[in-house]
Amino acid sequence: MKSLDTPQQKLKKISPIALFSLLTAIIFCAFIISATIIDRMKVTNMELEQKILEKTHRITETITKLLYKTHILAALAVHDSGDSFDIIAPALVDDPSIRNVLIAPDGIVSKVYPLSGNESVIGLNFFSEGAGNKEAVLARELGDLVLGGPFNLIQGGQALVGRMPVYTDTSTGEQKFWGLVSVTLNFPQVLDHSELDIFDEFGYSYELWRINSDTGERQIIAGNYSDNTSSHFIERSVKILNAEWFVRISPVRMWYNYPENIVLIIAGICISFIVFFVMQNNFDMKNMQVIFEQMAISDPLTGIFNRRHFMDIMSINIEKSRRKKEDCYIIMFDIDGFKQINDTYGHQIGDKVLIEVTTRIKSHIRPYDLFARYGGEEFIIFTTDISKTDVKDMAERLRVSLCGSKYEYDRVSVNSSSSFGIAHIFDYDLDKAVKHADEALYKAKKNGRNCVVFYTDDNCQ
Ligand code: GH3
Ligand code: MG
Ligand code: MG
Repeated sequence: MKSLDTPQQKLKKISPIALFSLLTAIIFCAFIISATIIDRMKVTNMELEQKILEKTHRITETITKLLYKTHILAALAVHDSGDSFDIIAPALVDDPSIRNVLIAPDGIVSKVYPLSGNESVIGLNFFSEGAGNKEAVLARELGDLVLGGPFNLIQGGQALVGRMPVYTDTSTGEQKFWGLVSVTLNFPQVLDHSELDIFDEFGYSYELWRINSDTGERQIIAGNYSDNTSSHFIERSVKILNAEWFVRISPVRMWYNYPENIVLIIAGICISFIVFFVMQNNFDMKNMQVIFEQMAISDPLTGIFNRRHFMDIMSINIEKSRRKKEDCYIIMFDIDGFKQINDTYGHQIGDKVLIEVTTRIKSHIRPYDLFARYGGEEFIIFTTDISKTDVKDMAERLRVSLCGSKYEYDRVSVNSSSSFGIAHIFDYDLDKAVKHADEALYKAKKNGRNCVVFYTDDNCQ
């Protein structure tokens, strides 16, 4: 037989529906939150892509614009072999990013502006060994403006250079290499125009790098990469004339470093638990209702029906028996000398006897017989579809089951018997039958107890 939960156990139970709701709410919230975070990251990445595009465009534009001054120098060289350099050059150095402009017939620097601070450049041969000289050779080979650097200058500091080859027409109409003109840009000041630090504001690390043509190694041109920079990055190339640079952007903070994401997760957990508590509360309320309903119909000590409920359902059962024209009976029994048991062993043992009496009776009646505590140590049974002989046998079996063995509790061993009264429900009149059963029970007591009396008009007068 399935054991029933006590009211306390019932109220301590966790509702499977509440648990399921909790899990569903957690999954749902996790889905919404991750979608929100991914969406937000996508938007940030899109904004970042936009910024990268803007910045790379700005870098290209700034450097190219400054280096294109080499075209004016080239025109000077062609026009008068650079004789008017001293007049024109000051007008070309119109930006603090420009360190100097120079001309180098046959690749050997002959004039530089400003001379102050750049004296060491005079006489420098761009076609000899030296940092940035590969670009000079490349420029002569390509016949076009070439960007070099950043590299260390012999006069100190770092620079980017634009080397432009100059060709003059010979009398035979052929092109003859005249030399090089060059613009030197202060590095990293030239990048100030590009405001790369804006990536900091976005919470991103950036790195501008290239493959150094002199060493063949990766050279970091600018950046704020730190140790805690994530390994995840976006990289875009920046084409400036012949050179290819790269901008690499990485988030400094991961998704969990954003307080708004943590707030979202906490809110999700709270919502999930609110759903759980609401469902659990609902479950507890339903359980309470069941407990109250049970309390209203059952006896708290023995758990069997109480007298009021027995009488309520009896009318329905008698009506059923009337229709089927079945014989039905009331059996009442009362524990003999129960007061004595209480007085001898105490009230608690008395309670235990009452509980065991109901257990013994329940195991000897049919499932459809109705059994209730009528009051005190008195019980009532309604049995139907049974003959007079069988009901007497049944009461006899019940009597024996109650007195056949002792009631054992720890070191206490109690002898107990009960007296039985049976009445036929004549004319399906319940009140009369109960009265008769009670009279038969009284008779059984009078007869010396621990016996069964079947009510007849004769024996109970
Ligand atoms: P008799 O053989 O004539 O029936 O004698 P009796 O002692 O059984 O009958 P009496 O009516 O004198 O005493 C019944 C006792 O049952 C008195 C009451 O205190 C006790 N009783 C009633 N309900 C309970 C209960 O729930 N628990 C306990 N332990 N005792 C109860
Ligand atoms: Mg009694
Ligand atoms: Mg009694």
